[in-house]
Amino acid sequence: MAPVYLDNNATTRTVSDVVAAMLPFFGAQFGNASSTHAFGSEVSGAIRQARQDVQALIGAAFDHEIVFTSGGTESDNTAILSALETQPGRDEIITSAVEHPAILSLLGHLQKTRGITVHYIGVDSCGRLDLDAYKRALGPRTCLATIMWANNETGTLFPVEDLAALAHDAGALFHSDAVQAVGKIALDLKTSAIDMLSLSGHKLHGPKGIGALYVRKGVKFKPLILGGRQERGRRGGTENVPGVVGLGKAAQLAHAALDGDTNDIRALRDRLEQGIMGSISHCRINGDVEHRVPNTSNISFDFLDSEPILLNLDREGIAASSGSACASGSMEPSHVLRAMKVPAVALRGAIRFSLSRETTEAEIDRTIDCLPTIISRLRAMSPPWLDRETVGTSPGHDPERDTNDSHAV
Ligand code: PLP
Repeated sequence: MAPVYLDNNATTRTVSDVVAAMLPFFGAQFGNASSTHAFGSEVSGAIRQARQDVQALIGAAFDHEIVFTSGGTESDNTAILSALETQPGRDEIITSAVEHPAILSLLGHLQKTRGITVHYIGVDSCGRLDLDAYKRALGPRTCLATIMWANNETGTLFPVEDLAALAHDAGALFHSDAVQAVGKIALDLKTSAIDMLSLSGHKLHGPKGIGALYVRKGVKFKPLILGGRQERGRRGGTENVPGVVGLGKAAQLAHAALDGDTNDIRALRDRLEQGIMGSISHCRINGDVEHRVPNTSNISFDFLDSEPILLNLDREGIAASSGSACASGSMEPSHVLRAMKVPAVALRGAIRFSLSRETTEAEIDRTIDCLPTIISRLRAMSPPWLDRETVGTSPGHDPERDTNDSHAV
């Protein structure tokens, strides 16, 4: 049976149109975009087109607001380090407790090595940012607020426009890691207060190792990588031309398909959730169910660990994950779910299902069919589960959930 891929927040398949667009740049069109001869100008034209395609996808006002990078991680690092360098009198950064390691690792390092103060703003049990704490943290020393647009584990969306306006009131810059939002929801940066934004090719059916940082016109900027004058002096190094072209094509396809895809993907995600919640007891949806990207569902199966669930799904040819791919292999529960204070019984058994525009109804139905047997088999082997008096109560009914509306479907 064909495998079912429900781990699109980790990475997506590079679609064939994207591969086809890239191929000539491994062959006949091998020129260096900086060269003044025809080989160079062919390539620089393709890069210009890709920049415009990315611009259109995020609704940026100018194509030169797009700086190509090696991916989301580099874009995040560049934004943070640039903000610190361009505002020397300000040494505090505000972020959320649920950011991706691309943000958290650098900020931890800067705290240790440069004495930067970092305010980690908490979230509630739905994963929503504590707005009061965010406002309290802003002040004359705030250099940058960096808050993700959509959380990679739960899909929860953050009110980044409001957060950007508040940051500006304090004279600070605002950056958003939008790696899990771009291509999934419509963005319009023309009317936005956001100063910098990160995106990544491989999350939207483009290639790996390519991404972009949006830098709003007029925002002071210092490059992370110094070298030649590529990217208007904002990122040194000969361009990854096939990658840039692939990202451009992926952006074009994502933009064209955005409306229809979003509704189809949401319908499939909701079908999956209803199927699971209707047939398996003691499970809960993690995250803000009303404000999520349409492709993501994070479900905890109480009293179980995610690893055996994933292993059993894998044996059935179904790929999902326990959260961020970067954290898999570690037995530590997810920092996102811990920040949300997900109850202990549900903390280790969270599975992230992330769909794409390639996901089919048949794949969702196969997942819904397989899961009840897997979960009941594992629960039968799990001592804490056997101790529960509530085993065998009506499907979907969970006494703990009834007192916690944050996890209602
Ligand atoms: N930020 C978020 C929210 C992500 O989900 C990821 C990838 O998982 C990244 C950043 C890193 O992006 P990249 O893999 O392109 O470096």
